Amino acid sequence: MFLWLKISMMKPAGPLGAAAPGGMLPQGPSPPGPHQFGQSGAHAQGHPPQRFTGPPPVNSAAPVNSAAPSYAPYSPSAQSSYPSPASTSSVTQLGNQFNAMHINSYGSGMAAPVQGPPGPPSAPSFQGPSRPPQPSIMQPGSQVLPPPPTALNGPGASPLPPSTHRQDGLPGPQYQPPPLPGQTLGPGYSPQQANYGLQMAGGQLAYPGGFPGGPAQMAGPPQLQKKLDPDSIPSPIQVIENDRATRGGQIYATNTRGQVPPLVTTDCVIQDQGNASPRYIRCTTYCFPCTSDMAKQAQIPLAAIIKPFATIPSNETPLYLVNHGENGPVRCNRCKAYMCPFMQFIEGGRRYQCGFCNCVNDVPPFYFQHLDHIGRRLDHYEKPELSLGSYEYVATLDYCRKNKPPNPPAFIFMIDVSYSNIKNGLVKLICEELKTVLEKLPKEEQEETSAIRVGFITYNKVLHFFNVKSNLAQPQMMVVTDVGEVFVPLLDGFLVNYQESQSVIHNLLDQIPEMFADSNENETVFAPVIQAGMEALKAADCAGKLFIFHSSLPTAEAPGKLRNRDDKKLINTDKEKILFQPQTNVYDSLAKDCVAHGCCVTLFLFPSQYVDVASLGLVPQLTGGTLYKYNNFQMHMDSQQFLNDLRNDIEKKIGFDAIMRVRTSTGFRATDFFGGIFMNNTTDVEMAAIDCDKAVTVEFKHDDKLGEDSGALIQCAVLYTTIGGQRRLRIHNLSLNCSSQLADLYKSCETDALINFFAKSAFKAVLHQPLKVIREILVNQTAHMLACYRKNCASPSAASQLILPDSMKVLPVYMNCLLKNCVLLSRPEISTDERAYQRQLVMTMGVADSQLFFYPQLLPIHTLDVKSTTLPAAIRCSESRLSEEGIFLLANGLNMFLWLGVSSPPELVQGIFNVPSFAHVNTDMTLLPEVGNPYSQTLRMIMSIIQQKRPYSMKLTIVKQREQPEMVFRQFLVEDKGLYGGSSYVDFLCCVHKEICQLLN
Ligand SMILES: [Zn+2]
Repeated sequence: MFLWLKISMMKPAGPLGAAAPGGMLPQGPSPPGPHQFGQSGAHAQGHPPQRFTGPPPVNSAAPVNSAAPSYAPYSPSAQSSYPSPASTSSVTQLGNQFNAMHINSYGSGMAAPVQGPPGPPSAPSFQGPSRPPQPSIMQPGSQVLPPPPTALNGPGASPLPPSTHRQDGLPGPQYQPPPLPGQTLGPGYSPQQANYGLQMAGGQLAYPGGFPGGPAQMAGPPQLQKKLDPDSIPSPIQVIENDRATRGGQIYATNTRGQVPPLVTTDCVIQDQGNASPRYIRCTTYCFPCTSDMAKQAQIPLAAIIKPFATIPSNETPLYLVNHGENGPVRCNRCKAYMCPFMQFIEGGRRYQCGFCNCVNDVPPFYFQHLDHIGRRLDHYEKPELSLGSYEYVATLDYCRKNKPPNPPAFIFMIDVSYSNIKNGLVKLICEELKTVLEKLPKEEQEETSAIRVGFITYNKVLHFFNVKSNLAQPQMMVVTDVGEVFVPLLDGFLVNYQESQSVIHNLLDQIPEMFADSNENETVFAPVIQAGMEALKAADCAGKLFIFHSSLPTAEAPGKLRNRDDKKLINTDKEKILFQPQTNVYDSLAKDCVAHGCCVTLFLFPSQYVDVASLGLVPQLTGGTLYKYNNFQMHMDSQQFLNDLRNDIEKKIGFDAIMRVRTSTGFRATDFFGGIFMNNTTDVEMAAIDCDKAVTVEFKHDDKLGEDSGALIQCAVLYTTIGGQRRLRIHNLSLNCSSQLADLYKSCETDALINFFAKSAFKAVLHQPLKVIREILVNQTAHMLACYRKNCASPSAASQLILPDSMKVLPVYMNCLLKNCVLLSRPEISTDERAYQRQLVMTMGVADSQLFFYPQLLPIHTLDVKSTTLPAAIRCSESRLSEEGIFLLANGLNMFLWLGVSSPPELVQGIFNVPSFAHVNTDMTLLPEVGNPYSQTLRMIMSIIQQKRPYSMKLTIVKQREQPEMVFRQFLVEDKGLYGGSSYVDFLCCVHKEICQLLN
């Protein structure tokens, strides 16, 4: 039987002994100093160069997947003598700007005037954008007369069409299908820009949908006519499909500076030829303006979205590992940039000039090589760091804590065993799953077994540690009742090798559900759980990850205790930001401690009511962990989604105890960072861990002029510990163009990256600023960027023409999707926890994930070609694109819906669900049945393709047209007016156009 070892807990002596006042966690000993990330390069003699079958030379036609890394594996024994650490230096010192809103704020609601051409003879008669946005309230039944034509309507505007009504007769919001096609592309249409003859009914459009959108917008009869044909305004689907058609399936070589990569939605094979793959780094623009004046003029954010551990498909070359042995990486003496393709060798190869700071360095003797007739080293293609955009270095001991190699990381599983979790079977489910998933702990490629050690804790109001040492016949439990000052009651036997202790662990996992079966404990603690896990890692002197399975608001008396402070009355007030802030500073200081000790926290939440995600989610966010949330978890409906997430999270590629540094060439610098990060100073981005799905968005600002010749260079270096316990540096380099022509800047923009940046900067700002102000800034900046283009880059045309740069054609529709997201939409209908959750998710998203999140993928399934394996072409996210006779699949990265039209083809219903008709379809399922026919197989294959690349398992919801759950689905039809407010795409475009006109006048 189980051996219970209840230890009566004594308070440890010393500073930990007294509970800190004010709910603060006791502070442990000071964390070790910052990582030594700025060591000078070692100089040593005669180290033979590592050779690799280099990448193909530029423009060669070598097959992309033929090169395999041929580096000698990491050999710790090769390291013997190490130079003493030098102090970290940087070229520039940054002011602390991290609390400022970095969306370009040119006055809330008040745009800086653009010196535009003289206005048209009669200016648009709209209310100016300087008017603070007010809900445009329309009383139900009120008659809004069509306004008189304005200059914006243009000559010959057709009269307003009669009201249109829903054709499906559905109840609910008054969706108004767009009127008949009327407008075509304006005369100024060209490949670089598109003119849209916007004709709108003016007057009512202060802000369409009247942020914050209220039901009032939907309650009235559809009198407010927008004479705009949706088919004539830029279509995201068209943009995606065009890029696929021109660039899909091809090889994209990264040999050209400032090259704009294919869209994230386009599949292609990427070949590193000197710049980092867009899988690792994407930019808002690939051509920076030469001066800060230009940058201010255009107001286009200059930012990079960096996903340093991005997953690389199997047909692309994985990163090479460079090992200079005890010499360590070659680095610039002044700015500490790592050897890369941007270093220029001179003087016969004896010296090199740094591309970042221009310092001329001696080449270390071990690294010397002669130059060829064009001044390139003879070993250029043999060394990844000379010819590739991305590679890894083996780090020497001076890159390790305490100058010794790190221990392999550990995973600690921490299960909330309070009453409800036992009762609903969750604890049993977790324990059962762990038995299989622990077989798949990540390991180094060349290793047979995982080096990761595992440990187990259960908790409710108290903590239970388990000794699972391999020589035990039974696991042992030790109860820590004093949650005020958690300490680790056992060192030996807590963190173990899974293979060695497998039988004891299985024994434990079998017993846990029974052990607490009779427990009536409802109350839980939370901060002490994290504290315990962190202390355990600290005691074992390793980095690691906590997997916490938690369900409730931690109300038990302990540090980090929370009360229910959900208050809908704060919505739409200046205090709304409080809902997004943590309730106590305990979690902030806990996160700081966790990062200092390389402790990443991943949280699986199973809330049935308010649990204060803003507080509970803070540590996962700041430690590079992931927050998963399963509302009202039901075993039969939700376990598959949860188990998929758990498996995926345990197996995913991850680096621990990481510190990232972004270096730039002279003239600009990184000024702000967004992501699952922690920063103790202005340059070092610290991460307890970073996995393949996490991205850090970095904003850049000028501090001098940039040269068109030299371009703008970026080097991102991540120092981290691998899952096998090796210390490495991962380097990504990217070169951008610079231009003194605004047109070049606009030509090189990437809207998907812009939206990623805007989303993160806005979601960061919600902690500090009223949401209304943030929404205004977003609208204003959108208009400003487009107005600047119109004024400076477009050919003259009538004011009624909306002119959009080609690269920003879909900026308005995506921006509107961001504005309609529940985080920015102040509506009481959406739970506070859901808003806090989505805010947190977006903060760490890469570009592909944010693109899908804000503009979901909607696929017609009834047109499926069952003989083909390619996805059907997506359609625009609008109800007008659905049809009664159709079946549609929608996915946004978190949710998946299968929408069935009332007249769905019976053979398709039969094929997918194995029931005779629409009426027979059971919507109470989250997995499609396996029906042995082509429809079923093809659909399930499409769903798995969509799921494959995504970090979260998407829960499938079956939605029948005209049934209640359809309301949830409709929120994702993002081109339409929102159920809870938020304007339609058409309305928003009119609003932006109006603002542009205002700016130009
Ligand atoms: Zn330098």
